[in-house]
Amino acid sequence: MSSLHRSTAVPASIAQREAALLAPYATHSITTAGRRHAEGPPRRRGPYEIDRDRIIHSAAFRRLSAKTQVFTGEMGDYHRTRLTHTLEVVALARRLGRALRLNEDLIEALALAHDLGHPPFGHAGEDALDECLHDAGGFCHNRHALRILEVLESCNPSFEGLNLSREVLDGQQTRIDHDAQAQGVPLEAQVVEAADSVAYDTHDADDAMKLGFVTLEEMLEVPLWRTAARRVRARHTNLAAIELKRAVLVELVDWQLDDLIARTEERLAAGEATHDWVVRQTTPLVTASPEIAGEKAAVERFLHERVYRHPQVLVMRSRAQSSLREMFAVLRAAPEQMPESFRARISTDGLDRAVGDYLAGMTDRFTQQQYARLCGSTASSTRSAPSGGELRLVSPRTLAG
Ligand code: MG
Repeated sequence: MSSLHRSTAVPASIAQREAALLAPYATHSITTAGRRHAEGPPRRRGPYEIDRDRIIHSAAFRRLSAKTQVFTGEMGDYHRTRLTHTLEVVALARRLGRALRLNEDLIEALALAHDLGHPPFGHAGEDALDECLHDAGGFCHNRHALRILEVLESCNPSFEGLNLSREVLDGQQTRIDHDAQAQGVPLEAQVVEAADSVAYDTHDADDAMKLGFVTLEEMLEVPLWRTAARRVRARHTNLAAIELKRAVLVELVDWQLDDLIARTEERLAAGEATHDWVVRQTTPLVTASPEIAGEKAAVERFLHERVYRHPQVLVMRSRAQSSLREMFAVLRAAPEQMPESFRARISTDGLDRAVGDYLAGMTDRFTQQQYARLCGSTASSTRSAPSGGELRLVSPRTLAG
């Protein structure tokens, strides 16, 4: 911490606004531990607003638009991408943060960054890269997000990385590091974690229904959904199936956020409700009530069985993994095929990590293009590679109906 610079002094107007609006247990910008590299004056922005802007303007953030959340782009254009998932998390986390009078600028920066480290093809891609990078320390999307923020992205010729505030980097660190969690997690990071979970449990079911992997009737047999539907029907009668589905999706989010806010307020009221007290807690304060938590776990078991392990998702998974493994081997043998910025990292970070960084940064689409370029001529006949060696991960025809 001693090496950090607080040269980004917080403008008085921002310090005053936060003092008036934020709770004592929130993270106030004025208490920031600063940045690794000294910078000039902040030009009317608070530290976490600067961080948010740097994240939004990063290439890694833009590439989330063409990265898989659960379903690949070839499966349709209704379902979430990694970017739209991220924006839903931002919205839900800010709702929680505003209700609890937390620092929304910090929440926004944390939420925008939380999935930056995902490689192409979601967890399938992550597992393949983890295997490829086994001898170089493995691959974990949460750790890779920190690497993007601290090393790979750039916003200033004087240093590498985005030079973000310590609180944003520490918040991301708590997603991977149990020691960091045991030291206490600020509420701003806790609401992002909770919002992420509400968002994906809800939207993955929505997307899976649209793709025909599960039906509304099946979802309504899962207790959390059944209760949400009962709450909707108490207010509306004679709903068509599509109206009921939409209303239940809204209800699931509203109900869970209300519950998270009420439970967190109860816990804060029972404690000292100061920032120091919050970060001394070794268990999260932003958690659902036991009833909802139990039913949410049942939703996750259902999604795991019926959606994440759906045969068509498994086909995508296996094809994505074999393509990444093959590309890793080709690039490892011929690193000159990578752009100069990645080749330059070989001497400092090793060949495997440099190839992993290049592959992890790819969008799904760019991976397919590069697969055709690098491996097309050697693509095996068992792979779904029609004309030109193009790797089609899932044929749209197989999704009809
Ligand atoms: Mg997420």
